Amino acid sequence: MSRSIIFTIIFFSGCVFSAWAVYKRFRLVSAGKPDSRVFPFFKRIVAMFVYAFGQLRVISRPVGFIHFIIFWSFILLGLSNSEFIVNGIFPGISLALLPSTLHHFLLFSFDIISLLAMLAVSVAALRRLLFKPAYMDSRYVMARNPEAFFILGMIFLLMTAYFGMEGVKIIQGLEDGTKMPVSNIMAGLIKTIFHGDVNTAIPVLGSVFWWLHAVILVTFICYIPASKHMHIFTAIPNCFMRSLEKPLMLQREDFKPENTFGAGRVDQFTWKDLFDPFSCTECGRCQDVCPADATGKSLNPRQIIHSIKVNLLKNGEALRNKKELPLPLINGENEGTNTEAAIWACTTCGACLEACPVWIEQMPKIIKMRRHLVEMEAKFPDELLNLFENMEARSNPWGMAPGDRAKWCSTMSIAPFEAGKTEYLFYVGCAGSFDSRQKHVTVAMAYILDQAKVSYGILGRDEKCCGDSLRRLGNEFVFEKMALENVKIFKERGVKKIITQCPHCFSTLKNDYKQYGLEIEVIHHSELINDLIKSGRLKPEHEVKNFGKIVFHDSCYLGRHNNIYEQPREVVLKATASPVLEMKKNRKNSFCCGAGGGRMWMEEHEGRRINLERTSQALSTGADTVCVSCPYCLTMFEDGLKDKKITDKKVVDVAEIVAESLRKHS
Ligand code: SF4
Ligand code: SF4
Repeated sequence: MSRSIIFTIIFFSGCVFSAWAVYKRFRLVSAGKPDSRVFPFFKRIVAMFVYAFGQLRVISRPVGFIHFIIFWSFILLGLSNSEFIVNGIFPGISLALLPSTLHHFLLFSFDIISLLAMLAVSVAALRRLLFKPAYMDSRYVMARNPEAFFILGMIFLLMTAYFGMEGVKIIQGLEDGTKMPVSNIMAGLIKTIFHGDVNTAIPVLGSVFWWLHAVILVTFICYIPASKHMHIFTAIPNCFMRSLEKPLMLQREDFKPENTFGAGRVDQFTWKDLFDPFSCTECGRCQDVCPADATGKSLNPRQIIHSIKVNLLKNGEALRNKKELPLPLINGENEGTNTEAAIWACTTCGACLEACPVWIEQMPKIIKMRRHLVEMEAKFPDELLNLFENMEARSNPWGMAPGDRAKWCSTMSIAPFEAGKTEYLFYVGCAGSFDSRQKHVTVAMAYILDQAKVSYGILGRDEKCCGDSLRRLGNEFVFEKMALENVKIFKERGVKKIITQCPHCFSTLKNDYKQYGLEIEVIHHSELINDLIKSGRLKPEHEVKNFGKIVFHDSCYLGRHNNIYEQPREVVLKATASPVLEMKKNRKNSFCCGAGGGRMWMEEHEGRRINLERTSQALSTGADTVCVSCPYCLTMFEDGLKDKKITDKKVVDVAEIVAESLRKHS
């Protein structure tokens, strides 16, 4: 049988095997619930080019250039490999039929690109062997390492086979060595080793290289759909289908009695949730930035994604046959399940979402599993029982009397909000109303608003919690009830602009409430203060020096989720005449204080405390004061200092620094 017939049989068998593997996986993905990820089409195409082909997030870390080179080599050498396949089946067809200038240009390009690919996989392998980042040490990655080396080794061999094939052609006078510098070197090596034996050894060697190339190519075709390297194909559409919302919104539930809520089985995720794991490159960036993982909790966002994939694959047959699923999604014993401890450890900081090069949505999947636990099984940490009851009964986390909401201003004259008379509603929030420390921030903010002659009012006892913690904790039912009540109040009262001093209230009112028909201007106090100073309505009387050196901590819900990084920094600069100190992890790389995602109301039973970790990071800058712009962060840092028994450092809100700068000193 001729070489072309054998190759044709092997190649098409590989394609059929590969297509079957792809089909089986996509049939599994289609078991998920509906989701709409096609429109706006043009915007998605742009995202796909920027993030998939441009690899923008991949190259945000220096080591990403290795992947960039491998990815683009794969794309560009697609032409060379296609020619190899076509020529293997129809020996008369090759790129040599092209005009010679173009042909030589292509040969030169393939030569250089193959060399770059060879160098990139060598660096990648050496990095894994010699400079492995700490997050690659997890048990899970150790188990996977052989696969990574297998793939890198295969690419290296493929390139070697290519240079070998072309080198032999150069020796045989079939190609021009001056156009292919790397293959020409290979030709020289082969000639030296085989003493220029062009009659026997070298033609045999040419055949060996050709078949090596062919076998590796077909192995790739078969192997990719069954391995993590399926991301080579799925990551591109995954970038197209990424969420275009910022921040990424949790979906509403349809609270009909016949429905289930959240995800307690793998097919209760959406199809996009099930597509994500097949796009995961297992790079570990999400794990690397996760504060829960960094402090020794069970949660590892990469593992969550991997578990969903394994769960789907292991339950595949039962799903197809509509039978009971053998492997539970939560609390099972084998690989492919998630522990409750991991699910409750998430602070919803969004660092994983920001880090993932292929836009996988880790955090919303965790919230869906929380929803299942809370709403279908009534299973949640004991500490949350009081919180849920207090929220339902009194619309605040502490169960305080609603009539006490405005006690913070009992000695001040703060007007109630009245549409037409007052421009802004100052939405004080639960911490601002009831927490003894945060009430100082509320008073400072009211003082600032008065000084700037801002027209504002409050709702007093009619103000209700925004429900942020409930939503992040998976208690979507109570959240929805509170959101609807709040939207009704805002609409009835004619509220058009809201000031908040809490990033959680800010993000919830501004973003989540859009799902309930509320689209109004919501402004965080750091933004408003900055605007007031810029417009000249606020004029600091003096440069504040009594807080010493100030380091700024980015709240996740202000920064990463809402892109507000500079305003609070500018405000502190104007009030103190000194720029803030920066922690190593700042702005979009900031490290959570540990209180988001409802973790404010829970104990940390595993690992080290996140707030202590962040407090240490802040203190390592040599700062005297930590400046925050969030009540939760304020509490977490103050607790951090107390636990470390540090009494000579302070934690202040940005509003307190500005209020101080406005006070006239006699
Ligand atoms: S949202 Fe934050 S805490 Fe939750 S998994 Fe992602 S990085 Fe970890
Ligand atoms: S989910 Fe994203 S960041 Fe995490 S390992 Fe997979 S590709 Fe990397």
